[in-house]
Amino acid sequence: MTNSRLNTSGKAGSAPMTIGVLGAGQLGRMLALAGYPLAKSFVFYDMSGSPSAGLGEVIVDREGKYLDDFLARVDRVTYEFEHLPVEVAERIAQHKPVYPAPRALQVCQNREAEKTLFGELGIPTPEWRIADSAESLQAAAEALGCPVVAKSNTEGYDGKGQAVLKSPAEAAEAWKAIGHSRLMVEKFVTFSREISIIAVRAIDGNVVFYPMAENVHHEGILRYSIAPAPGISGDLEAQAHRYIKSLLNELDYVGVLTLELFVTADGLVANEMAPRVHNSGHWTIEGAKTSQFENHVRAVSGHPLGATDARGLSCMINIIAEHGDTDRILELPYTHLHLYGKGERPGRKLGHVNVLADSYDELKWRVRNCASFLPGSPEFSCSLTKG
Ligand code: AMP
Repeated sequence: MTNSRLNTSGKAGSAPMTIGVLGAGQLGRMLALAGYPLAKSFVFYDMSGSPSAGLGEVIVDREGKYLDDFLARVDRVTYEFEHLPVEVAERIAQHKPVYPAPRALQVCQNREAEKTLFGELGIPTPEWRIADSAESLQAAAEALGCPVVAKSNTEGYDGKGQAVLKSPAEAAEAWKAIGHSRLMVEKFVTFSREISIIAVRAIDGNVVFYPMAENVHHEGILRYSIAPAPGISGDLEAQAHRYIKSLLNELDYVGVLTLELFVTADGLVANEMAPRVHNSGHWTIEGAKTSQFENHVRAVSGHPLGATDARGLSCMINIIAEHGDTDRILELPYTHLHLYGKGERPGRKLGHVNVLADSYDELKWRVRNCASFLPGSPEFSCSLTKG
């Protein structure tokens, strides 16, 4: 049989494939770990100068001089990091398939573009305004009614570049503290909890959804994700599926997409989306039939998607700043430890632990026990622990 006949059979599974990944952090590392059993190879392209993937081939290119080398080594390209110039992704797309397409990157990099798209698709958002001076920030705070959250329109993540204004009089100070020329100003949402929905779209348009996760943040950083999120009604889940599916279809998206949502008395309100595998989906490594990482690799490679059902109940605990007593964690029979090989630093994500259980009560005490070996872990407080 000739190669061309093999290819038209649609069986991409046996052909060797090198996946190029833009970004080279822990998400890329976990993509590679999931892709190796499927005989994929990985080349990472890092523009930050501090790659931490720790495996695969890494091209460090702060000035964009080695893009051709990267292109020559890869069959198709995806991202693990969205804060890189869209022009780079667009240039790559002229030579190799890029999944998801650069438009997804462009929208997710810019809170204004993202909220505008949400609005066009009928996905509820907090009421918002754009501010391009301390005066317009004050005017936005007055128009929306305080409290408001001001966020840098681009380049923000993990709560960085944000300030909450309790009164319009705080505008000048907040403007200075954030130090960006364009801000997204949002009405502060009163929510009962934060959840995320992760979905995967294949090249043929097939979409699968993971059970939703309940996310607990501390000082702007995700600390715990519980999945499946307890007590989510069928209506709420259907709403989340509708929202993320409309985004996937609008962007002709291929791969994993994450949508972060607030649960409010009036239903779901969208916060932001990420065009990649997400920290709130790390539980899927042991907690779902197919991990988010494997499903992303499957999607960008053109393979069928894997089952997304949960295997029991999970809670992911992020390891932040200090590694803690990893040997004690390894002794616990219900945990899976994932370390990223990074050095300790305040606020830095060093790894995560997936805790598994058969009941939410069991999950609660197991998480608390595990967190006691992680210094600096905030109190495990979520819908399971409140009333
Ligand atoms: P972000 O970087 O937009 O994901 O924001 C980080 C965190 O700040 C979110 O996970 C929320 O806990 C909180 N937050 C962001 N926007 C709002 C808002 N409009 N109202 C209330 N809390 C918010």
